[in-house]
Amino acid sequence: MSRIAYVNGLYVPFESAAVHVEDRGYQFADGVYEVIAVHKGRMVDADPHFDRLWRSLAELSIDPAMSREALAHVLLETLRRNRLREGILYLQMTRGVAKRDHGFPKEPRTALVITARRGGRPSPKGMEDGVEVLMVPDIRWDRCNIKSVSLLPNVLAKQAAREGGAFEAWQVDKDGFVTEGSSTNAWIVDGDGNLVTRQLESAILSGIIRLVLQDLAASAGIKVIERAFTADEARDASEAFLTSTTSFVLPVVRIDGEPIGDGLPGPVTKKLRELYDGHFEGRGRNSP
Ligand code: PMP
Repeated sequence: MSRIAYVNGLYVPFESAAVHVEDRGYQFADGVYEVIAVHKGRMVDADPHFDRLWRSLAELSIDPAMSREALAHVLLETLRRNRLREGILYLQMTRGVAKRDHGFPKEPRTALVITARRGGRPSPKGMEDGVEVLMVPDIRWDRCNIKSVSLLPNVLAKQAAREGGAFEAWQVDKDGFVTEGSSTNAWIVDGDGNLVTRQLESAILSGIIRLVLQDLAASAGIKVIERAFTADEARDASEAFLTSTTSFVLPVVRIDGEPIGDGLPGPVTKKLRELYDGHFEGRGRNSP
């Protein structure tokens, strides 16, 4: 069966799905996006994803293309047309097509593109072996809380990680504190078994798995401390891990080639992954 994409009101074959050359997403990265996991034909944690999308749009004064209900309908219809039960939905909203000029167009018409992809569940090998991260300078702007399609620094960070044989890059701010990964949130476990992850502010994206895991940890009696940690603290941590919609909870066992602890996934990370797997099986919260 051929894949189908949604482009501005039409369901079209994936091969010929295209946007206009003067779409402001293409010209200026003037848009936002979301990546939502699909399990058993339903979206996982749709509500917090929608909340974040609406926040990102509001930050950039982009009109939502439609209501939340209508968007949920279009996303589910894209799944249906692709006969997709396990995978990933990608959606992007931009300030639409207009003659190239930096300022906002007078009457912008938000453009919406949706694609669906099979698979998307992290491989068990990552969980068994853990992954390596490289530390790189954070060269991004001051509004990383917006899920903008302007991802060039993230692209360069991920590429640096790949070229260094690592899975992910952890970005470090000018004061030596880790902000987050190129497409993941960063966590460590301190000497008392508490989880430490950077506080929500404009230096990081509010990851949905980060959000969900805070609740899951609390219900399991594991304390979460929201504060910045340094790259050195991460190297000396008893455990480290990263989170994202596509990675779930993934143990980080090496930083810049040096093992963390004994270099194996730790018990706290394993426990959190189990908790998240359970949450995912139940398809998260309030999902259409
Ligand atoms: N930080 C960044 C920069 C990201 O791109 C992502 C993935 N979109 C995350 C964190 C993790 O977010 P989520 O848990 O919602 O996938």
